[in-house]
Amino acid sequence: MKAAPAQQIRLLDLQEIDSGLSRLAHRVRTLPELAELSRLDARLTELRDALAANATELSDLDREQRKAESDVDQVRARTERDTRRLDAGQVSSPKELEGLQSEIASLRRRQSELEEIVLEVMERREAAEARGTALRADLAAAESEREAAEDRRSSAVLEIEADRASAADRRTRVAAEVPDDLLALYTKLRDQYDGVGAAALRYGRCEGCKLALSTSELGQIRQAPADEVLRCEDCRRILVRTDESGL
Ligand SMILES: [Zn+2]
Repeated sequence: MKAAPAQQIRLLDLQEIDSGLSRLAHRVRTLPELAELSRLDARLTELRDALAANATELSDLDREQRKAESDVDQVRARTERDTRRLDAGQVSSPKELEGLQSEIASLRRRQSELEEIVLEVMERREAAEARGTALRADLAAAESEREAAEDRRSSAVLEIEADRASAADRRTRVAAEVPDDLLALYTKLRDQYDGVGAAALRYGRCEGCKLALSTSELGQIRQAPADEVLRCEDCRRILVRTDESGL
């Protein structure tokens, strides 16, 4: 393949632009904000799950409290009924009287046990409410932290996108100066060899694979016409001669 030396040099400019574009694409994919966002998303999920569990716990405790309170009411009503019967002097048989008094005593014990349960449920409810309040505060903090990280991510992406757009413009201009067949070969090799299709020969070394060329290879290159498109014997990339080739 033939191409004027100046066109071959342009290929090196194109390679530099393409490597820059790859670095920009890599930066977009590996922005530190992305890791931060995924950490925050996990945290948000965790907090929302905890809040949902907290809401369930609160409604369970509400039900438990209502049940305990209605138990207290029932026992109290029964105690009052028994007390009224006692006070009204309706019970005359001593055995029945004794039975009624002992029932009232046992109902009072039961009532105070049930009242203990109500208090205990109320305490648990207060603790659960406090946990809910703390969870909501944590959630709000994590949400605003996420929003800030998202803002940082999008401004970083915008900045990179602006660099990418200007590099893409430059690429179009430079690519227009490279002959089609050389451009096609370069594109194929770039895909094949890790994003690098063309490399400079610099002080006897291929910049693509960093290997020094042998004396006989350098000898052959010296003999080759200036417009001959050369390839590195080691990495097969297009090897471009420059003023710094050391020939
Ligand atoms: Zn090489």
